[in-house]
Amino acid sequence: MSTDIKALDAPVTSLKGVGEALALKLARLRIDAVADLLFHLPLRYQDRTRITPIGTLRAGHEAVVEGEVVAAEVVRGRRRSLLVRLRDGTGIISLRFFHFSPAQQQQFLAGTRVRCFGEARAGATGLELYHPEYRLLRAEAPPVEDHLTPIYPTTEGLHQTRLRALIEQALAHLDAAPQALPDWIGEDLRARFRLPELHHCLHVLHQPPPDVDPEQLAGGRHLATRRLALEELLAHRLSLQAVRQRIQADGAPALPSGRGLQARFLTQLPFSLTGAQRRVLDEIAADLAREMPMLRLVQGDVGSGKTVVAAMAALSAIAGDCQAAMMAPTEILAEQHYRAFRAWFAPLGIEVAWLAGKLKGKARLDTKAAILDGRVRMVVGTHAIFQEDVHFQRLGLAIVDEQHRFGVHQRLALREKGEAGGLTPHQLVMTATPIPRTLAMSAYADLDVSVIDELPPGRTPVKTVVVPDERRPEVVARIRHACAEGRQAYWVCTLIEESEALQCQAAEATRDELVEALPELAVGLVHGRMKAAEKAAVMDAFKEGELDLLVATTVIEVGVDVPNASLMIIENPERLGLSQLHQLRGRVGRGSTASYCVLLYHGPLSAHSRERLSVMRETSDGFRIAEKDLELRGPGEVLGTRQTGLAQMKIADLERDADLLERVAPLAEALLAGHSEASRPLIRRWLGEEAGRYGQV
Ligand code: ADP
Ligand code: MG
Repeated sequence: MSTDIKALDAPVTSLKGVGEALALKLARLRIDAVADLLFHLPLRYQDRTRITPIGTLRAGHEAVVEGEVVAAEVVRGRRRSLLVRLRDGTGIISLRFFHFSPAQQQQFLAGTRVRCFGEARAGATGLELYHPEYRLLRAEAPPVEDHLTPIYPTTEGLHQTRLRALIEQALAHLDAAPQALPDWIGEDLRARFRLPELHHCLHVLHQPPPDVDPEQLAGGRHLATRRLALEELLAHRLSLQAVRQRIQADGAPALPSGRGLQARFLTQLPFSLTGAQRRVLDEIAADLAREMPMLRLVQGDVGSGKTVVAAMAALSAIAGDCQAAMMAPTEILAEQHYRAFRAWFAPLGIEVAWLAGKLKGKARLDTKAAILDGRVRMVVGTHAIFQEDVHFQRLGLAIVDEQHRFGVHQRLALREKGEAGGLTPHQLVMTATPIPRTLAMSAYADLDVSVIDELPPGRTPVKTVVVPDERRPEVVARIRHACAEGRQAYWVCTLIEESEALQCQAAEATRDELVEALPELAVGLVHGRMKAAEKAAVMDAFKEGELDLLVATTVIEVGVDVPNASLMIIENPERLGLSQLHQLRGRVGRGSTASYCVLLYHGPLSAHSRERLSVMRETSDGFRIAEKDLELRGPGEVLGTRQTGLAQMKIADLERDADLLERVAPLAEALLAGHSEASRPLIRRWLGEEAGRYGQV
């Protein structure tokens, strides 16, 4: 039987009649090994297990009907068609064929018994089945199907019946050698977490017995699907935990809290830290003191003061004779951090280096040399910092602001940056995207999480109003008024995100229009197509108060800090996610004056959009907004573009299976406690060979 045990691991080409061409098509469905066929689940099901009386059919129903031909004729309507009238004891229905051969026409003699399957629709003659599948019945009627018929997602050139036959072959292999596909969630765990057994689930899903509700199955609410979804979520969690373990198996420099340096830094700040900032700093200090790399995420709403926390952590590294690096996702943001760090660190005698893609030639070589020989202790920049050609003398701490583009692979790659000193750097990730707790538990299973859940005192909450485009003149007057009082304003243009060019054009047009309407104001423009230096110059001018009004595309979303700006207009806010609106709105309300956010929509608004925008009016709590966003738009949007892998799952659906998220952590814990050997094969089953390798700790 050993050949059978291997059969499921074998490539699909080991199946009868599967050649290279078919294997390529299957690969498009992410099916490579025979076992992958088993995890390719149906989209929906057809019920061919019973014969439905014609009289009980309803439009939209798919059903098997059986009856006797009353008449068959070719009719000329808008299109020529063959119309066959079929009768059972309960009613009459028409079968309609637009494509038919003379031979086919001959088959339907009056009195012939026909069984067919199709979807009933309201047609010219009452209920009709268009192009049903059918067979003529001779002496004895064959039995109906004994299970529901699965309909699989497929790909061009691969017919449903072919795919179905392949999956049946895979199921036959499974039946012949059940031990070839172990249920890694063992019997004890299944009992404890009330989960059905794996093979049973696969059989139910591919060949459901007639008494299973096809809607429930297709909707993913059947226990069999839920168990597979849970297993997939479990595998994701285990893989993140394996990455974490792998990183933490390396040593890190133990960094005693750099009290002297940190105290000097704090006395020079014009404010004192909030309780939440202090608490998070204590959590960070405890991690840094260990000889194991910290892996910590700091979540804090916009304006909660994450940068100061980052600076304090960097000072620990510097006091501990290490270097620190801080990376931001965009140049505008990185540059802003660079300035903040320079201003803070210069009085402490600490030089700050700048490194971004645009830094070229000799300046770049000099900076790299200074990083390598340890002359600079603090580096701020973009992704360029972590590129291959940048070597640190002794990197103790890597800080990543706005984690969206920083995934597991980057985290693993960071290990190499500390190599010259033989140690792996501590990692601190900062995000303003508030992610609901259950989702965070799955998305960040590799990180410890700290939350800055308090804003610095003295902020007045931003008042948000929702206004239709017809009232644009009033909005313009409001800008005039605010600027006359010495304050500044943002005007944010949004457009369908795919077209950056159009978005920039729209922003230019809006700028021109506003320059005309507000001739007394200095109006600037930033958009994504401008050169980094141009953008920086405009942002500077706005920050220095040389511009009254800044027209921008959504590039200003993250981190820009201009406390004197007290008014923001967002055009077409219905196009953005709530969390994104919240981030944008966080650009105002940074000073002590009352601030306003005007959501200027283009009517009419759908009820759904109305509900979403009213959430913005009602609350300024980023976590509540994220919960709402999750409810209204789903987790893909809330997680953004972060490469968590959670976005590309095969079976689990974060929205549909949200309630499963709670169960993943305890299940993972129980599995690692009692059956740690199952972790790696589970990761490999769901995430592939490469991820399976991280699983080897
Ligand atoms: P974010 O968390 O959005 O990155 P920042 O770090 O940019 O927030 O901080 C926003 C503003 O609040 C900055 O001007 C910063 O100097 C200021 N700030 C930070 N912490 C405090 C505090 N404890 N008290 C008063 N102002 C603070
Ligand atoms: Mg920030």
